[in-house]
Amino acid sequence: MNDDQLLRYSRHLLLPEIEVAGQEKLLNAKVLLIGLGGLGSPIAMYLTAAGVGELVIVDHDRVEMSNLQRQIIHRTRALGQPKAESAAEALWAMNPDTRITAITHKLDEEQLTEQANQADLIIDATDNFTTRHLINRVSVATSTPLVSGAAIRFEGQITVFDRRQDDSPCYHCLYPDNGDENLTCSESGVISPLVGVIGSMQALEAVKLLAGQPTLHGRLLMFDGLYSQWQTLKLSKDNHCPVCS
Ligand SMILES: [Zn+2]
Repeated sequence: MNDDQLLRYSRHLLLPEIEVAGQEKLLNAKVLLIGLGGLGSPIAMYLTAAGVGELVIVDHDRVEMSNLQRQIIHRTRALGQPKAESAAEALWAMNPDTRITAITHKLDEEQLTEQANQADLIIDATDNFTTRHLINRVSVATSTPLVSGAAIRFEGQITVFDRRQDDSPCYHCLYPDNGDENLTCSESGVISPLVGVIGSMQALEAVKLLAGQPTLHGRLLMFDGLYSQWQTLKLSKDNHCPVCS
């Protein structure tokens, strides 16, 4: 680390759980982030500020007026621009240590697998079950840890799937139904700062995982934003899961 970096990351270096070794791990890490919406906004911003070395950001949508209420990485002037591009511009200005690659088209399973094989971690910040199950299959097939989060209305949840640990469940163990239940914010609504809470938690889990610290692996953290209550559920592997067993 150079002098600028020692100063920039000084509040990390003071933490015995991070120190120089942990920060070096962050600076050498590559993260694949899918989704630059409400969850992806704080995730991308915190990972960049925290000094993650390389961030591949994927989103094939364009910035719409109805996104701006909660997708805080995008500016009003970015309306109509691909989200991955708009996000990349904000991230470039934040931290020169983080290399940003923006992918503005939809990745199929093969392309996603190729990206996952080069990444230390995948973060799911998408909003539909089809994509979530696709990301999960790729995470399991490539044994790349996955930080998963979801937010809708006033409710959110976060967990970490880490195949490198024994008896790790996967997203399909938790949500076996790959049917057409596709509840999204566009139909149900979502309260603005909720995506900040859940996305920031995902960023926290990601940073800890990369730095070799404890994560939510094996537990699902659920947040009721209306009554401000957190709950933790223990997750276990489904021994008949067609994806991971
Ligand atoms: Zn499974």
